[in-house]
Amino acid sequence: MSRLDVLRADFKAGKPIASFYPVVLANGNTVEELTAHCNDCKRVLPADHFRGVVYSMHEGNTIINNGVGHCQHCLTIFDVSNRIKTGKDSLRLEWCINGRWVSTLTKPDNGVLQFLRVIAKKIFK
Ligand SMILES: [Zn+2]
Repeated sequence: MSRLDVLRADFKAGKPIASFYPVVLANGNTVEELTAHCNDCKRVLPADHFRGVVYSMHEGNTIINNGVGHCQHCLTIFDVSNRIKTGKDSLRLEWCINGRWVSTLTKPDNGVLQFLRVIAKKIFK
């Protein structure tokens, strides 16, 4: 099975990532929404085109998003996997670029993060 076949199968088997949200984290913050957009055209993917599974680990301190995005405009399918980690009063979004984890730190306003946007990494053209 090629990598593309795996992405197609995961996309088909997955549920819309939006259906797993909102997610309440261990530190009391809520992530209301997780969206992904295409690296090429920058369009936000419709909820039904960002599919996969979401796991809560470490008693809600880590949220794993294993997603696959499909851009109908560019006809691309790509991995959108990342994890959300909590600190005492912060959130960190981490994702993998060329085998290395990178992250962005978000300080929620009033203890609540209203919106978290994920930039998708495109693997296949
Ligand atoms: Zn696109």
